Amino acid sequence: MFCAALTFDDGYVEQIRHARLLYKMGVPGTFFLITGLKEYMGKKLMIARENLIRELVDMGHEIGSHTHTHRDLTRLSASEIERELKLSRSAVERLGGSGDIGVAYPYGSFNEHVIEAASKYFAYGRTMGAFNRWNEAALRYALGGMGARHLIKLPLRAVGGVRLVTVVFHDEPLWIVRAVIDYLRALGARFVTLREGLKCLGL
Ligand SMILES: [Zn+2]
Repeated sequence: MFCAALTFDDGYVEQIRHARLLYKMGVPGTFFLITGLKEYMGKKLMIARENLIRELVDMGHEIGSHTHTHRDLTRLSASEIERELKLSRSAVERLGGSGDIGVAYPYGSFNEHVIEAASKYFAYGRTMGAFNRWNEAALRYALGGMGARHLIKLPLRAVGGVRLVTVVFHDEPLWIVRAVIDYLRALGARFVTLREGLKCLGL
């Protein structure tokens, strides 16, 4: 038995369809919202449609921050990092992000300065990529995450002692999300929001 957290970055309006699918399948998700832009990558963001965010929360999903304007935090000054985190933290809080709110670093990019600032405003931080991919280290401010394609390609069965698998989605079609849920379920996963996932790591 291991925990699995399905996370969705950016907060595209179309991700409400993913949220509804998860709800139907009895799976809680975690949605990291860009809070200071109307659109990103040419696609509209939910932050301009607060009724959708309320629907997310009502369905039992967790909402978190993906910063205010999706800049690479490692390239910003200390005061700019603060601004990106502080503004998005208060926006998520206002929108009903209750309890300990988390942040997903844009591009998965972080360093010690980013972690220091994130720990002031957030309960945890999620990265992505090869670093800490299986959460082999219980790093509260550098939780691992990987894309759906990697998850399917990597031999999860062969990885011993995995406690938390975090999948990072952006705008994948619904059938991929469904396939990932079926796959993880078949392996015995217990689905959690990322906040709950901290407990699976003993944090
Ligand atoms: Zn992003």
